[in-house]
Amino acid sequence: MSELPTRIVTDSMIGLDMPDIAVWSERVAVVLGQNPGPFTGPGTNTYIIGTSRRPLLLDTGQGLPQYLPLLERGLLDTRGSEELQAIVLTHGHADHVGGVESVRRRFGPLGVSKKPWDKLDGGLDIQIVDEGSEIQTEGATLQALWTPGHAWDHLCWYMPEENALFTGDVVLGAGTTVIPPDGDLGDYLHSLRRLLGLDVAVIYPAHGPAIRKPREKIESYLAHRALRDAQILSGLRDGVGSVPALVKRIYVDVPEFLHAAAAMSVNAHLRKLERDGVVMRDGEEWALATGG
Ligand SMILES: [Zn+2]
Repeated sequence: MSELPTRIVTDSMIGLDMPDIAVWSERVAVVLGQNPGPFTGPGTNTYIIGTSRRPLLLDTGQGLPQYLPLLERGLLDTRGSEELQAIVLTHGHADHVGGVESVRRRFGPLGVSKKPWDKLDGGLDIQIVDEGSEIQTEGATLQALWTPGHAWDHLCWYMPEENALFTGDVVLGAGTTVIPPDGDLGDYLHSLRRLLGLDVAVIYPAHGPAIRKPREKIESYLAHRALRDAQILSGLRDGVGSVPALVKRIYVDVPEFLHAAAAMSVNAHLRKLERDGVVMRDGEEWALATGG
């Protein structure tokens, strides 16, 4: 197995710089959530969508006080207004829903559209949307696609006016998506393959820059995951059976502070391989189910 390539997705969120407010198309502007970090890159992209003075807001960032004045300025500069029609969410992670309450305090009791998930929705008053739901605003339509894996409640939003896809955390502008312990890598791969079947000209991700070559990006994500599987199986074949040891072996060029995220990824792969009957676990040790 020595001829395995070592890296497929080579870009990274680390050090990526983006402006606080940017216009990406006639109907799409982006305001940064002001929450940069190892998992969020330059921060969460929140999108002003539609051509009217009352556009939609897709995702709300983390709820940091520095964000609201930027959202106000973004609306004023790009739509000449201080109004929103409604809030739409990709999923319930804190860096997407955290700003809902403060945005509603500032802009009034806006509706919040989200696929429900009891686990994360505590206290949030939502309007239920799901696979096939459509939300209209002037100049733009958002169509919901259920894309679980990163999070069970995750919706991507397709905008036919630009053949654009808002991918939330399913496809990122740089680096790869984290599959947290309550995520599911099998679901995630299924979601990616589904997105490959769509006519997509541009991806507007929840973190990082727009992706102008969507197909290449999604295919590189799939190849990256296949490579991780192969690397893990190769490690197990060589008797490297614990997650920390696998991380050390596979993520040789990744800084130490990202090893927790790497361990999360290796765990996600092992859980999927276990379900596929390829590997088995004994306490903290993993091994090939077939004996190699
Ligand atoms: Zn997320």
